[in-house]
Amino acid sequence: MNASEAENQILRRQLRSLMDEARLNEKKWRRFDQLERRLISTHSLPELIHLILNDYKSASETDTATLVLSDPDFEIRRFLEREKSGASEVRGLVLLEKLRTDDPVLYLGAFDMDHPRAIFDTLPSESRSMILLPLMRKNELIGCLNLASCKTERFTDDSSTDFIERLANIFSICLENSLNHERLKNVGFTDALTGIFNRRYFESRCQEEVASIRRHKTPLACMFLDIDKFKRINDSFGHPAGDEVLRNISKQIKTQLRGNDVLARFGGEEFVVLLPQTGLQHACEIAERIRSTIALQPFQITPKNSLSVTISIGVALAPDELDGDDRAVAHKLISTADEALFQAKRKGRNRVVSENRLAGTIGMRGGLSKLLNFD
Ligand code: GH3
Ligand code: MG
Ligand code: MG
Repeated sequence: MNASEAENQILRRQLRSLMDEARLNEKKWRRFDQLERRLISTHSLPELIHLILNDYKSASETDTATLVLSDPDFEIRRFLEREKSGASEVRGLVLLEKLRTDDPVLYLGAFDMDHPRAIFDTLPSESRSMILLPLMRKNELIGCLNLASCKTERFTDDSSTDFIERLANIFSICLENSLNHERLKNVGFTDALTGIFNRRYFESRCQEEVASIRRHKTPLACMFLDIDKFKRINDSFGHPAGDEVLRNISKQIKTQLRGNDVLARFGGEEFVVLLPQTGLQHACEIAERIRSTIALQPFQITPKNSLSVTISIGVALAPDELDGDDRAVAHKLISTADEALFQAKRKGRNRVVSENRLAGTIGMRGGLSKLLNFD
C-alpha cells in the first residue's frame, strides 16, 4: 500500500467515525426534542416533575436523578398535595425551605457528595460522576437538577452540555408556568377571608372522594359546622370582629384535622370537613374535639372584651351501598351532615349530632361526657 492509499484509509476511518458520531447526536437530539415538546405541552405540575425525573433521566442515560426546588412558603408542597400527589410520594423530588447555596454555577465531573448542591434523596454510593444543573428564573436560583452516573466517563468536565443546559432552561420556564397555572387555580378554589378551600372546591373534591370509596371500599365521613348565634357577634362588636372570629375558628378547626382531611368554608359562618378513611365513630370523636377546643377557648375580641364562641356540628357517613352517581352521593352526604347539624341546633346548640345509620335516625351527642353515647 502506497502512502496516498494509507492516507485514504485513515481519512475514510475518520469519516466513518464522524458519521457515527453525527448519527448518535441526531438520535440524542431527537430524544431531547421529543422530551422538550412534552415538557412544553404539559400544564400539570406533578406531570412536569415526573417527566423531568423519569423520562429526562432515561433520555440522558443516567442512573440517579433528583430535582431540588426552593419552596420557602410550602407552596409547591401544597399544590402537590391538592393534586393528591404529596411531595413525600414523589421519588427524587426534594423541596427545601432554603437552598444551601445561591451559587448558580454548573458542576460537571467527579461524583462529590460534599458539594453544597449535591442533594440526592437516596445515596447513590456507587456513583462516579455527576452533573449539577442550576435552575434559574429571572436571575435567581430556584433549584437544581442533579444527575449521577455509575460511569466515570458519563460526565467529565470536557463533555458537551448544550442539550442538557437547554433542557434545564426550558424546564425552568415550564416550572414557572405550571406554578402560575396552579396559583390561578388556587384563587378559584380558595376562600378569600380565611384562606381555606371554598365551597366549589369542596363539592368537586367530595365527588372525587366518592369515586375513590367506590373503588377502594373505604369509609368517608363529612362534617357540617356552624357557629352558634354568630349574628350577635357582628351586632355587638361589628363586622370586622366577626371576620376575625371566622378566621380564628377556621384555624382552630384545622389544628384538629389530619393532612388529608379537607376543610372548606361552605358560606357565611358555615364550614365543612371531609374525612377520608374515617368511620362515623372516629369522625364524631374528631368533631367533639373541635367543638370542645373552640368552646373552651374564649376569643379576645378587643383588649377589654373576650368572648366565648361555640359551634354546632353535624356528622354523616357515606353509605356502604352507593345509590346514584358520584355527584348525587356527594350531595346526599353533605345534606345528611347538614340535617344532623340542624338537629344539633334544635337540641340547644354547642353539640355534635351524628347521623345514626343503623337506627335510621339522627343520633345526638352533647358535651364531652356524652362523647360515646348515641341517644
Ligand atoms: P345560629 O346559631 O342559628 O346559626 O345563629 P346565627 O346567628 O349564627 O345564624 P344566622 O344565619 O342568623 O346568621 C349568620 C350571620 O353570619 C349573618 C351574617 O351577617 C353573618 N355573616 C355571613 N358571612 C359573614 C362574613 O363573611 N363576615 C361576617 N363578619 N359575618 C358574616
Ligand atoms: Mg348558618
Ligand atoms: Mg350560625
